[in-house]
Amino acid sequence: MSFQRLTGQNEIKIRLKHEFMGDPSHAVLFTGEKGSGRHEFAKEFAKALLCSSPTDDGACGKCNNCVYFDAETHPDFIHLFDPNKKAIKVEDVRNKVVSDIRIGSQISKRKVYLIEGDELNEAGQNALLKSLEEPPENINFILICEEADSLLPTVLSRTVEYKLQNYTKSEIMEVLQRKNKEDFNGKFRKSDLEFTCDFAAGSIGKAVDLLGDEELPVMRDKMIELVMNIGKESYTDVLDDRYSYFTSNADNIEELMLFIIWILGDLSILRKDKKSKFIKNSDRRDEFLKFLDSNPSIDLNKLAKASGHVNTVFKRLELNVNNIYVLTDLLLGLKKELKHD
Ligand SMILES: [Zn+2]
Repeated sequence: MSFQRLTGQNEIKIRLKHEFMGDPSHAVLFTGEKGSGRHEFAKEFAKALLCSSPTDDGACGKCNNCVYFDAETHPDFIHLFDPNKKAIKVEDVRNKVVSDIRIGSQISKRKVYLIEGDELNEAGQNALLKSLEEPPENINFILICEEADSLLPTVLSRTVEYKLQNYTKSEIMEVLQRKNKEDFNGKFRKSDLEFTCDFAAGSIGKAVDLLGDEELPVMRDKMIELVMNIGKESYTDVLDDRYSYFTSNADNIEELMLFIIWILGDLSILRKDKKSKFIKNSDRRDEFLKFLDSNPSIDLNKLAKASGHVNTVFKRLELNVNNIYVLTDLLLGLKKELKHD
């Protein structure tokens, strides 16, 4: 593994090369959304810092340092995190970092501390501050955060930030094609990969997780079935069966909403142009066209209103508005706008 294996982020790769080939900053911070690859970049950078003979492309992969690093037994690499992914204990910051930095490195020319910044509360950050301000020679800190402003300004000002960008469609497709070949024997078609890529919306980690996820097609089918039928169902069916499907899949609510948005989007596109190539669920074109033909009153205006109901759910979920009201409003809204002729 080297930087070459990591997709995209070319500008960051060039900047990082200057770090590990030259005189690295004492503390760097990798920020980026979940699935942005921030952990992969941080680890690759740590490995390059520890490596005895790094190349332009990162760690050599062969020296003792690299071997120990890959085996996760490098004595000069300290990964500080909370096993419960909540808050790192202040005493862990003191014992594993603050006191530890005084002990010299064992096999590498430096020691590297990788710290999960999202798990550092204010007390933990304050405990770390002095070490960041006056680090001994050959000590390097790497912090990882979803967003930089979750760190105290005093901590942030000591770090050099590397902000990972969303990936382009072609970068994600490249990763998916490789994974399809290596892990799935090429069983997915190009259209499956494109669907996964669109669904991941710029997150490489999400795209990789989603490929091969068997729940996803099931959820999509269920949402297509909902859009096709909700307009002719009774209130009891809607508020009972439909409602309980959402509450029992509460963890996937965002995915479910996104599917509905896509389906409604496809219906709008097909309302204008039956032959359009720009629909997401192209394998279901015939079914969608049949639905539109049987229900001429479901026009663009109604489809837009239906999408509006889904967008409201996104906003209200962000505000943590009680699920019961959010979902009931959504289901009744969809039932009304998608009423069958
Ligand atoms: Zn090496």
